[in-house]
Amino acid sequence: MHAMVLSRPRSPLQWTERADPSPGPGQIRVRIAACGVCRTDLHVVDGELPEPTLPIVPGHEIVGRVDAVGAGVHGLAVGERVGIPWLGHTCGVCSYCIAGRENLCDRPLFTGYTRDGGYATAALADARYAFPLGEAGDDAALAPLLCAGLIGWRSLGMAGDGRRLGLYGFGAAAHIVAQVARWQRRLVYAFTRPGDAATQAFARGLGAVWAGGSDEPPPEPLDAAIIYAPLGELVPVALRAVRKGGRVVCAGIHMSDIPSFPYRLLWQERELRSVANLTRQDGIEFLRVAAEIGIVTQVTRYPLQQANLALSDLRAGRFEGAAVLVASAA
Ligand SMILES: [Zn+2]
Ligand SMILES: [Zn+2]
Repeated sequence: MHAMVLSRPRSPLQWTERADPSPGPGQIRVRIAACGVCRTDLHVVDGELPEPTLPIVPGHEIVGRVDAVGAGVHGLAVGERVGIPWLGHTCGVCSYCIAGRENLCDRPLFTGYTRDGGYATAALADARYAFPLGEAGDDAALAPLLCAGLIGWRSLGMAGDGRRLGLYGFGAAAHIVAQVARWQRRLVYAFTRPGDAATQAFARGLGAVWAGGSDEPPPEPLDAAIIYAPLGELVPVALRAVRKGGRVVCAGIHMSDIPSFPYRLLWQERELRSVANLTRQDGIEFLRVAAEIGIVTQVTRYPLQQANLALSDLRAGRFEGAAVLVASAA
């Protein structure tokens, strides 16, 4: 197999050849067709997340086919198409796991962060955390659903039922959430980098009733806002944009520091919270909804060997939607 490997933070990934790993008990080996490139991968590469396993193969939006199964694997067969998400393993015995909040597990493993991920031609996974994907849909088009879609879905639930929904940072997650929100008959207000007319047009094309720069106020107060951009300065901006009793949800795993702000922005029962990881139940629900809605992802394909280019294009905002690594460029 081949993989793009991060040996130390803030260095380029290296194209590396390795022996195919053998699945241990409870594991599957997946031959990878496509792997999405997530903002979290940039945080891993930039050394912004604590204690990564190094060297590490990044990538946690994996679509591929099972090509070997270890002892004790039930319900997955060789040849079956599966998705491998960020949540790679949980302990099953800590207080969070027992309470059904496995996204907060005390001893988790995360794909592409603390266990090898999908910037590769093959990967091992714990079979219990893989999602069967069926045969409908293109491999690369499905890949962004595995994190951008899943975290988007979880953050949308945390935002409550409010009709007027603001999305700060209109990238991979927001372009999927906008489609779900519209299906739920909500009104989407899209906030982009100031002056980013192309992304604002992209958001309107996906049904946003308003799109503008994050330096602009919405035309009316929002019921809720979700922040996908990793910029702490957007927290007081979003609090200012929501009505009394409104919610602001921070959906990223890492953010720059939040500047101090006057208490009156939080006053009147506005709420501020973060969303961490996912549960398997989130995945089951979201993949069912995604199929029902017929979500269309916009993907830019990169050959696996060009993972470093995909990451730098993501950092610079050079594409709309999501980047996906594929075995060979389409
Ligand atoms: Zn646990
Ligand atoms: Zn992700």
